[in-house]
Amino acid sequence: AKAGTGLVIENLTLDYGSFRALDGVSLQAKPGELVVLLGANGAGKSSIFLTTSGIHKARGGSIRFGSQELVGRKPSQIVAGGLVLCPEGRKLFPQMSVLQNLNLGAYVHRGDKAGNQRMLDEVMALFPILKEKQHQPAGSLSGGQQQMVAIGRAMMGRPQALLLDEPSLGLAPLVVKQVFEVIQRINRSGTTVILAEQNAYAALKIADRAYVIENGRIVMEGDRESLLKNDEIRRAYIGA
Ligand code: ATP
Repeated sequence: AKAGTGLVIENLTLDYGSFRALDGVSLQAKPGELVVLLGANGAGKSSIFLTTSGIHKARGGSIRFGSQELVGRKPSQIVAGGLVLCPEGRKLFPQMSVLQNLNLGAYVHRGDKAGNQRMLDEVMALFPILKEKQHQPAGSLSGGQQQMVAIGRAMMGRPQALLLDEPSLGLAPLVVKQVFEVIQRINRSGTTVILAEQNAYAALKIADRAYVIENGRIVMEGDRESLLKNDEIRRAYIGA
């Protein structure tokens, strides 16, 4: 497996107007790791991802991706540098075909037709159902299939690190299982993955490590085994 690129976030601060959404967040994902972010609605998970991908501007702190500093860069430069976000709620273009949605993810590589075709073949191999449905409008697919389009589109950006924001949202348990299996496969092929999830148990089961975020701050960090048996985590996030 090729080694993914690591991400080191230090003391990240983000304000929405006078509201401090991220208050000195530090976390890291080592090359090839699968790191989970746990937190309730509004804790700040999406804010971490939107700032890391250059969509929101950090107030302070640093985000190092391999040897690159991401703070101050534009979203397209960040994708071109190998860090790709699969956003919460999928954000597909429902009237456009599956294929057209997938190809949008390759925008920063638009000069490289052969490379994009290779990547498309990889995505179709990962999600055979998308090959079958490639000419259908993305909006006509089931929720789980649409999530696969969203992950496939992110893969077309050729990520060395992939940020996944609540990929299991609104999906039936069996479909959640399939989505998590695919995430695990992407990670095992070498891509660094950071996964934000409410579905704490399923996410922790495939994680190397996890962070817990509350009110814009990291309040806990640990490896899979220690968090799965942590009483506080079980009560607050697993419901056991
Ligand atoms: P969710 O699962 O609901 O996405 P989250 O952990 O990802 O939760 P964020 O979306 O990062 O949380 O939100 C963190 C806080 O910032 C919340 O209090 C939210 O209401 C607030 N917030 C998010 N986006 C904005 C915005 N554009 N303007 C103002 N406040 C915002």
